[in-house]
Amino acid sequence: MYLGRRYRLKVIAGESAEVSVKLRGGHLELRLANPLRQMVREATKGWIRDRARKVFADRLDAVLADLNWRLPAPTMRLQAMNAQWGSCSPSGRLTLNPWLVKAPRDCIDYVILHELCHLKEHNHSRRFYRLLDKNMPPWRSRKKRLDELAEVILNM
Ligand SMILES: [Zn+2]
Repeated sequence: MYLGRRYRLKVIAGESAEVSVKLRGGHLELRLANPLRQMVREATKGWIRDRARKVFADRLDAVLADLNWRLPAPTMRLQAMNAQWGSCSPSGRLTLNPWLVKAPRDCIDYVILHELCHLKEHNHSRRFYRLLDKNMPPWRSRKKRLDELAEVILNM
């Protein structure tokens, strides 16, 4: 899955030692010289991480631009986690789970906003939820969608 869409994995034994991964039509096309299961897994994971880095940076910019309060752009890092989409440190560093890039864009925005709200409200208080409501009125449906997808997305 990538950005909420399912793609069929197509593995092609390539001649060159270089690994290439491309989205083509409804397929995620992998070319590698040695298409063993382990290699395919590694190549797919690498691709997901690359995409996550790019997509999250774009979405972070977009969510920051829409905030109704001012916030200096936080730093972001990726960390694969089994049961969490993201977290943030009091110093303002955002940690996002790279597997989140499999979810629809709306759900990614929700997670980013959730973490940004924690920079202002450090717990799940009433004030925290008020902040979420104000900045993303439909956040509950996005969260629900993400919860429903969690099992598929996190068990790769
Ligand atoms: Zn939270």
